[in-house]
Amino acid sequence: MNMKNPTIPHVSRQISGPLAAIASPQRIAILLLIGRGEACVCHLEAALGWRQAYISQHLMALRKADILQDRREGRYIFYRLKDASLLDLVTASALLSGLSAETVSALINTQVNPSCECPQCLPVLISVESLKIA
Ligand SMILES: [Zn+2]
Repeated sequence: MNMKNPTIPHVSRQISGPLAAIASPQRIAILLLIGRGEACVCHLEAALGWRQAYISQHLMALRKADILQDRREGRYIFYRLKDASLLDLVTASALLSGLSAETVSALINTQVNPSCECPQCLPVLISVESLKIA
């Protein structure tokens, strides 16, 4: 394979990788919730109301596709987008589907959820937790 002049089949296959990995409503929902910040499984669980195992399954697939990376902090694992420009792709797809960019940008972000007990939603807890660990 000559990488200086890659063929269309080769390039097409590579380009379809991230597109295929995010192409489901569940995974788009997860990406919107993580946005430009980060989120733990419990945060996604509280926001989406899905079983944790089901969410983890999607997180694993997105991580395997090199779309997400994770970080452990105490007993929490936080997921973030490896490249936030993926959100531009999501927004472009939203526009094609008839949504406005404003609709999407209003949803893209880690929002504080009153029914979630993760460190991001209850920032007071994190200091207590980190004191306990230290
Ligand atoms: Zn939360």
